[in-house]
Amino acid sequence: MKIVKTVEEVRQEVKAWRKEGLTVGLVPTMGFLHEGHKSLIDRAVAENDRVVVSDFVNPTQFGAGEDLESYPRDLSRDAELCREAGASLLFNPEPEEMYAQDACTMVDMSGDLTTELCGRTRPIHFRGVCTVVSKLFNIVAPDRAYFGQKDAQQLAVIRRMVRDLNFDIEIVGCPIIREEDGLAKSSRNTYLNSEERKAALVLSRAVAKGRAMAEAGEKDADKIVAEMTDCINQEPLARIDYVKAVNAETIVPVSVMEPPVLMAMAVYVGKTRLIDNFIYKG
Ligand code: AMP
Repeated sequence: MKIVKTVEEVRQEVKAWRKEGLTVGLVPTMGFLHEGHKSLIDRAVAENDRVVVSDFVNPTQFGAGEDLESYPRDLSRDAELCREAGASLLFNPEPEEMYAQDACTMVDMSGDLTTELCGRTRPIHFRGVCTVVSKLFNIVAPDRAYFGQKDAQQLAVIRRMVRDLNFDIEIVGCPIIREEDGLAKSSRNTYLNSEERKAALVLSRAVAKGRAMAEAGEKDADKIVAEMTDCINQEPLARIDYVKAVNAETIVPVSVMEPPVLMAMAVYVGKTRLIDNFIYKG
């Protein structure tokens, strides 16, 4: 597996693969890789001849006061995980390689997809995501790209962007990978101290409660949201940003459990903002 830092090197590698008629999968990440990322890489390796993993903490998707500087980084560990999983190329650019100093083009999206849920408190987040993912799509030009259901709104945003901008790329959504006790794996879990780590289980408990209600036939989305909210509020270290039912494809809020419903939450545990969700498919 090669580790490269420039756009040109990625292009040359991919060009050589294409000459051999090989297919290419892309797994975009911000690094500090864990089993969640690995599940995406494993799937990409199974479905493509060559796999590119991008490892880039993208500054344009972080707002003022967010954790851009403190975001955990460990390239050598990431490289080890990618190599073992069978990736062919690890792309780890510096911000200056990805963004010219006078860059002034962004990919923006209007409407509920980017203004609901995380978009309410992170107004520039999805513009940064759409921009960097478009750039990666143009740099790698993969056949398929892999994204986790953990970031369900992001997955819906990327699917819409690919449709709207005619990217010839198949978007593959992958299930949430959890710790044994239920906590969704996240690079940000490293911010939690031991007390907060225990308190963070309230997210997966609320997800389990909501899912059980939906599967038992509860059609009132507001009732499910209320139960989940109650569950989270019982944990003193947790502070809700949002718990909300939306259409999983459009991110438009819903009050009836008409599938596909995305039941999504963002919750601060101490100072750490965690997300979790489930999709009710009927
Ligand atoms: P990140 O490095 O957090 O930007 O995540 C990179 C990709 O990995 C995104 O598509 C995430 O949705 C996905 N991902 C992160 N955590 C998980 C998880 N626990 N299970 C499945 N996918 C995940």
